Amino acid sequence: MRVPTVVIGAGHSGLAVSHFLAERDIDHVVLERGQVANSWRTERWDSLRLLTPNSMTRLPGLAYDGDDPDGYLTMSEVVAFIDRYARHEQAPAMTGTTVTSVRRAGDAYEVSTDQGAWTAGSVVLATGAFNLPRLPKVAELLPPTVDTLTAHGYRNPQALASGGVLVVGASATGIQIAAELRASGRPVTIAVGEHVRMPRTYRGRDVMWWMERSGVFDERYDEVDDVVRARHLGSPQLVGSPEHRTLNLNSLSDDGVRLVGRLMGFAQGRAQFSGSLRNVCTLADLKMRRLLGTFDEWARDAGLDDQLGEPERHESTRVPQAPPLTLDLEAEGIATVLWATGFRPDYSWLDVPVLDRKGELRHDGGVVTASPGLYRVGLPMLRRRKSSYIHGAEDDARDITDHLAAYLHGRRLPAA
Ligand SMILES: Cc1cc2nc3c(=O)[nH]c(=O)nc-3n(C[C@H](O)[C@H](O)[C@H](O)COP(=O)(O)OP(=O)(O)OC[C@H]3O[C@@H](n4cnc5c(N)ncnc54)[C@H](O)[C@@H]3O)c2cc1C
Repeated sequence: MRVPTVVIGAGHSGLAVSHFLAERDIDHVVLERGQVANSWRTERWDSLRLLTPNSMTRLPGLAYDGDDPDGYLTMSEVVAFIDRYARHEQAPAMTGTTVTSVRRAGDAYEVSTDQGAWTAGSVVLATGAFNLPRLPKVAELLPPTVDTLTAHGYRNPQALASGGVLVVGASATGIQIAAELRASGRPVTIAVGEHVRMPRTYRGRDVMWWMERSGVFDERYDEVDDVVRARHLGSPQLVGSPEHRTLNLNSLSDDGVRLVGRLMGFAQGRAQFSGSLRNVCTLADLKMRRLLGTFDEWARDAGLDDQLGEPERHESTRVPQAPPLTLDLEAEGIATVLWATGFRPDYSWLDVPVLDRKGELRHDGGVVTASPGLYRVGLPMLRRRKSSYIHGAEDDARDITDHLAAYLHGRRLPAA
C-alpha cells in the first residue's frame, strides 16, 4: 500500500502530528502496535498520576475541559483523554499493527508491519521515548539472591517479594515508588545520584504553571548551553496528588526512607555507594533556588508580584551525617533492588543507518537530516524543554509537519 506519510505510534505525539497532517490534507496512516495510548495503558504503575496539572493536558484541537484544572489525571483518565482525542480528530489509526522494520527504498520508505507493508514518501517516528528501561552497568553485578525489577515492570507494592527494597534513582519515578513502598510498610533505601528538585507549588501556584508562564518550558534545543545534557536530564522530583503534596528527599526521610549515595557496585553481597550524596543534594538545592529566582525575576518584570504570594525560601535537603557507603543486602533484609534509572527508546525495528554509537537517533530538532523524509517526535528536549510533555506536542508537531510538507511538495526546506 502506498501513502504519502506513515506515522508510527498512536500516543499523543503521533496523534498531534496526525492533526497537522490532516489540516494540510496530507494523506497518512497512524500505525499502532497496541491500542491508542498504549504506553499509558500498559507501561505505567497503578497509582501513577500525571505530574502536570490538568490545565496543561491539551493537544492541538482538544484540551482538558473538566472541573478540576489544578488536579492531576490518573492513568485511566489519561487513556480516556487520548482516546477521546483520537476520536475527535478521526485519526486514521490502525491499531494492532506492529511495525517490524523501516528501510529506505529509493526516495521512499518501506514500512513493514505484521499486517502488511506500506510505502511512504515520509515517515514520522512517534514511538515514544520511554519504551525500555535504561539500566546502569552495575546492574549486571547484582547478586542472584536478590530480586530485581525495573520501574517499567513495577505495578504496586503487593507484587514485590516481602522484605526491604533498595530503589536506585531519585527522579520522579524513583521517589514516587520509594514513597509508595514505604507507605506499604516496607523498609526502603533510596540511592540518590544527580537529580532535579522542585517544590510542588511556589508562591501559591503550581510549579508547572511557573515553568510554562515564565518561558522555561519554551526554551529551544538550539538555545540551551548543552543540549545533550538537557536531553538526558532526569524528570523533576514531583508527584501529582489530590493534596498537591510536595515529595522530595526531606519528605522521604521524614517517612523513614534511608538516603544513600549513588549506587556504584556490588561485591560480596554488599551494595557500594558513592560518597557524593551531600554534593548532589547541595547542587540540586542550588539549582532549584536558581530556578525559583528565575521565576521571581519573570514575575517582577511581568508586573505580577501583587497577584502572587511572597517569594518562598525552601529548607535545604537534610543529608545524614554519615550515610553508609556499603550495605550488606542480606543483613539489611533487602530483598529487591528496583531500578528507577530512566528509560530509553526502542529502535530495534529501524533499518535506516541513523543511530549513533550509543544507539541514539541523530536528528536536528526532530528532522533526521541524514535520511530526508524521516522525522521524530516525542523525545525529551526534541525541540523545546516541553517536548516530551503532553502540552509540548502541539508546537513540535506543527514544526515537524511544516518541514515534512515542504519536503513532500519539493519546496525549499525550512530551517530545522
Ligand atoms: C512514568 C512517566 C510519567 C510521565 N508523566 C508525565 C506527565 O505527568 N505529564 C506529561 O505531560 N508527560 C508525562 N510523561 C511523558 C510523556 O507524556 C509520555 O512518555 C508519553 O507517553 C510520550 O508520548 P508519545 O506519544 O511520544 O509516546 P507514547 O505515548 O509512548 O506512544 C508511542 C506509541 O508508539 C507505539 N509503538 C512503539 N513501537 C511501535 C512499533 N514498532 N509499531 C507500532 N507501534 C509502536 C506504542 O505502542 C505507543 O502507543 C511521563 C512519562 C513516563 C514514562
